Amino acid sequence: MELMNVSVSELAALLAAREVSAVEAAEASLRAIDQGNPAIRAFLRSTPDVALSQAREADLVLARGEGGPLTGVPIAVKDIISTAFVPTTCGSRSLENYVPPYDATVAARLKAAGATMVGKTNMDEFAMGSSNENSAFGPVHNPWDLSRVPGGSSGGSAAAVAARQVPVALGTDTGGSIRQPAAFTGTVGLKPTYGRVSRYGLVAFASSLDQIGPITRTARDAALVLQVIAGHDPLDSTSVPAPVPNYTASLDGEIHGLRLGVPSEYFQEGMDPAVERIIREGVAQLRALGATVEEMSLPHTHYALSTYYIVSPAEAMANLARYDGVRYGLSVPGTDIWHMYRNTREAGFGTEVKRRILLGTYALSAGYYDAYYRKAQQVRTLVRRDFETAFERYDALVAPTTPTTAFPIGARSGDPLQMYLSDVYTVPANMAGVCSVSIPAGFSEGLPVGMQIIGKPLDEAGILRIADAFQRSTSFHIEAPAVSLGAA
Ligand code: GLN
Repeated sequence: MELMNVSVSELAALLAAREVSAVEAAEASLRAIDQGNPAIRAFLRSTPDVALSQAREADLVLARGEGGPLTGVPIAVKDIISTAFVPTTCGSRSLENYVPPYDATVAARLKAAGATMVGKTNMDEFAMGSSNENSAFGPVHNPWDLSRVPGGSSGGSAAAVAARQVPVALGTDTGGSIRQPAAFTGTVGLKPTYGRVSRYGLVAFASSLDQIGPITRTARDAALVLQVIAGHDPLDSTSVPAPVPNYTASLDGEIHGLRLGVPSEYFQEGMDPAVERIIREGVAQLRALGATVEEMSLPHTHYALSTYYIVSPAEAMANLARYDGVRYGLSVPGTDIWHMYRNTREAGFGTEVKRRILLGTYALSAGYYDAYYRKAQQVRTLVRRDFETAFERYDALVAPTTPTTAFPIGARSGDPLQMYLSDVYTVPANMAGVCSVSIPAGFSEGLPVGMQIIGKPLDEAGILRIADAFQRSTSFHIEAPAVSLGAA
């Protein structure tokens, strides 16, 4: 699928020069989805009608010499982001037939920018998971090795971009769900600062942590997409009313003199030595490009994961109370209203979602609230202060995204704690609300390894500059998995 092998910025140039039409681009993407989906299952549905009608409109705009860098560019959207009159299932039986009557702000902004939506991507149910095995509609397979997971919860979005089905997909990141699957699939995943991108129309998992962001193949593409989706939204009271900088303007390849910190807590015992070696090589490359690099410490890192697994289930249990069989989605009758609630939740939610609801209810119940929830919020403050202190001295921090490469399907699904450990390096950025991007940094036994660049609040331009400089001097992001070339 050659046309889908190009980046967003390359495709935009072809579209603007009228060498390719938006309809051709949408058709190429839809074909790649049809070809790849039986093996990869990245998409819960493709949306050819929406895509082609948007593409025809985009062609009219392009014919007038108007439009922007996303006009006519095919995009996939994680199925937790509301899209008007297109089913939005959250990977859950409980919302299997739910069709939102409105667009999330990000979907509306992409539409206004002329992007063409080609489909909705598979995901862990309600974004709870690290492997995409918690989808009620079956797992996603990693395009680099179909017997392995693509990561989660935005596994479908990451696999779709890695397999060259689409040049960009939206994901969401509550504890790592953009960066971890990006690392496992050799793609670029950007988690913006909390509040940078509107959450209006994003089905809530843990509201104080959730952020929407792009999964692409280059940092430049992430910048182009962020440019469109970032910015204040009166419909989301937590969105930041700060101006949006010009993100591509900072991509000059110049990182000379930048001060980078490498947190020693992100190289723990038990991590895959090959991942450590590749990240150390990545850091050396940044030094070779002129950055100064220092080992440093984020002392409360160790507590971030356990704190996350108190705070996020607590918020999730409150958010998921609405799926009671009365207001939304699935409703299973019962002898009285209590039975109806119970039957609906029993049938609508998978095991992991039920586990989180129980954990959250426990952590918030009288008698345990102080011991767990309040304590967790206090520790969260300490984690955030670690970053504040670090950013007094460093422009950005560089670390592995995950302790291992993609693991085999089934390897961790019976052991929730083992699964939760996949996020040990991504969760702290969510707890602190800072921005972070994962970029391809190498391969171990044919599987991609991701390097994380963590930045100051609202300094997406800064981390994308570093990511772009790294990509200008490396070619890991250009390599494509065999499956995308039709070998599957
Ligand atoms: N894997 C983490 C979890 O299961 C993070 C999920 C996410 O970022 N949505 O909660």
